[in-house]
Amino acid sequence: MTDYAVPAPAQPSLPIEGSAQRFPVHRIYCIGRNYGKHVKEMGGDPKDQPPVFFMKPADAVVPPGGAVPYPLATKNFHHEIELVVALKGGGANVPADKALGLVFGYAAGIDLTRRDLQGLAKDAGAPWDSGKGFDNSAPCSAITPGDAPPSGKITLSINGVAKQDGDLGDMIWSVAEIIAKASELWTLQPGDLIFTGTPDGVGPLLAGDRVVGEVQGAGRVEFTVG
Ligand code: MN
Repeated sequence: MTDYAVPAPAQPSLPIEGSAQRFPVHRIYCIGRNYGKHVKEMGGDPKDQPPVFFMKPADAVVPPGGAVPYPLATKNFHHEIELVVALKGGGANVPADKALGLVFGYAAGIDLTRRDLQGLAKDAGAPWDSGKGFDNSAPCSAITPGDAPPSGKITLSINGVAKQDGDLGDMIWSVAEIIAKASELWTLQPGDLIFTGTPDGVGPLLAGDRVVGEVQGAGRVEFTVG
């Protein structure tokens, strides 16, 4: 046993549907705006620019049943329901036609955001970490094993009222393309999670709100804001 000078951090992990094993979280990659129905219907090409990536710390993940307190330092705490990809394989410069071979499974996750701090960072041309990479900012469902990306509805409600209602078919960058693009920037590893962007309808959360997010074929994530 290594003799650490301070207590070693616990390994963040998620449960797996139909299994007693858990999925160990290595890194959490996220992609920015990825639902471009409107851009496409206006004849624009939403792939003119490469996707924007940011990260959350691995221990920002909140497994099912975990607490999501109202975070520090914000007055505008937002929900973003997302399809989450869990990787069993890795590599750099993975071609898109090989990317789905790295996938362990899929989950529903919520990219919780301190929108006011993200806005200040955007205005200042500063990094997004304070807006995106804070404690408990990545609640997730259990992981549903399977390499084929799910299709269907992606929804979120607050206290039973529908707030986000999108379709996975409206993603600009596909799961395979996102994995390929991420692997041009980082060497992906087993245990990585990738949040794939949110449809429209994002908005604020308040203490006491009951949040339920569902991604068809991937999972259901729910919590009450502390
Ligand atoms: Mn997001």
